[in-house]
Amino acid sequence: MEKASASAWRKFNARYNLVGNVCKNCNTNYFPPRIVCKNCGRNTKMEEMQFSGNGKIFSFTKIHVPAEAFKESAPYVVGVIKLDEGPMVEGHIVESGKEVAIGVTVKQVFRKMYTDGEEGLINYHFKFEIV
Ligand SMILES: [Zn+2]
Repeated sequence: MEKASASAWRKFNARYNLVGNVCKNCNTNYFPPRIVCKNCGRNTKMEEMQFSGNGKIFSFTKIHVPAEAFKESAPYVVGVIKLDEGPMVEGHIVESGKEVAIGVTVKQVFRKMYTDGEEGLINYHFKFEIV
């Protein structure tokens, strides 16, 4: 499990706010953010970009045998979401009684991810909810 660290703080914006970046040279969007554009190879015109959090389920699966940290929430659904702005993002899909299916529209929500250690530190992360 990841402890509070410089690395965790660097990922803060991506994890909590769905902030990636865009290459202003070729208009390719990235999440998580990249240093060098995979499309045109430039690194001089990468600008921070706030993603809307809206997208569609590209694929999904239900986890019945979870990692230790997620055992409280099993079974749960994880999926790959194709954001409206292009990038694919992995995330938990909140089950709300609506059918989880490929192509269904989702939006980003902010939810508890897991409770860490004996101190019971609650970790949050973005998840996706069916609209
Ligand atoms: Zn580019």
